[in-house]
Amino acid sequence: MTTNLLNYDAKGLANFCAEIGEKPFRAKQLLHWIHQTGKSDFVEMSDLAKVLREKLSTLAVIESPEVISDHTAEDGTRKWLLSVGTGNGVETVFIPETNRGTLCVSSQVGCALACSFCSTGKQGFNRNLTVAEIIGQLWLANNALRVDGYNISQSGRAVTNVVMMGMGEPLANFENVVTALDLMLDDHAYGLSRRRVTVSTSGIVPAIDRLRERCPVALAVSLHAPNDALRDQLVPINQKYPIKELLAACQRYLPAAPRDFITFEYVMLDGVNDGVDHARELVKLVHDTPCKFNLIPFNGFPGSGYKKSSSDAIRQFRDVLMQAGLVTTIRKTRGDDIAAACGQLAGRVKDKTRRSTRALAAEAVK
Ligand code: SAH
Ligand code: SF4
Repeated sequence: MTTNLLNYDAKGLANFCAEIGEKPFRAKQLLHWIHQTGKSDFVEMSDLAKVLREKLSTLAVIESPEVISDHTAEDGTRKWLLSVGTGNGVETVFIPETNRGTLCVSSQVGCALACSFCSTGKQGFNRNLTVAEIIGQLWLANNALRVDGYNISQSGRAVTNVVMMGMGEPLANFENVVTALDLMLDDHAYGLSRRRVTVSTSGIVPAIDRLRERCPVALAVSLHAPNDALRDQLVPINQKYPIKELLAACQRYLPAAPRDFITFEYVMLDGVNDGVDHARELVKLVHDTPCKFNLIPFNGFPGSGYKKSSSDAIRQFRDVLMQAGLVTTIRKTRGDDIAAACGQLAGRVKDKTRRSTRALAAEAVK
């Protein structure tokens, strides 16, 4: 059986080298070839001895998930749908801006946490992504964007920032996500600073503590409500880890965090959580937590049962937070013409299959 080297961080590659009777420093060379040059063919790894290249070709592969579709929106946002077997897909989104290029990475096929306004949550949980499938998203995006000549602010890179805000709850796939984070941060691989890598969580409290100990990158927390009664409905994991415990975990995280604040995400749902009173309640709630707010206008999907708040309601809500001294941004919706906006990622491979099956059936009766 061949081993997929995309599953390994530096330590894993060093172990692999030891197993095949090679010196540990080969791991660094491999990291460089795999992640910095994006090579998948051992033959091209010119500073490895020919015998080693041949040995690697028989024992290992470098394989990211297969691309099912690749769309670019009018605003330059690009979305890849990736095959992860059994008819499921996951999505990765690249968002280019003047001074940075952000990749939104998925961590699971579906999600078990069933937030009421999230299309990934509506799918239910299928499985965790492997390390190769998580880091493979960055690997293939960099490769694809390199072809396009992307070089954001002369950094020599296309992807300068990663946000774990695609499909799935990253902290529910802890080990694989953290190994992928290790690779993102490793100077021999992607060399991103901890402040440029963000994990977004719906609030799995013990896992926030583990992340602090293991790999404290920037933290975004999906708050979405100013009290437990409402949050219980919107983000059901709140019934297990209520707001008070969540805020305490944020406080514990801060001393280890690469930034001196936590980002709170707050989806703006018309008539549900977007009133001025909710904003006032929120101000009181977070008064002793150093934080910034990111308001996300709800992105609709068929059958969601929610509506996006009006621009006026969002502005009024922001003003209440700002007047209380809380830095608040309103997230721009990007790539909505290709359903690449937050909460719209659904990896709809099945629908397509059904369509094509129908098309085939139609062909057959002609
Ligand atoms: N599971 C993680 C990360 C993935 S979702 C989490 O929940 O934090 C990334 C962000 O998009 C979260 O803040 C999530 O609540 C938000 N989101 C989900 N569905 C959305 C929708 N339909 N419109 C806008 N934001 C949504
Ligand atoms: Fe899962 Fe995040 Fe969607 Fe909630 S918002 S269902 S945690 S992906």
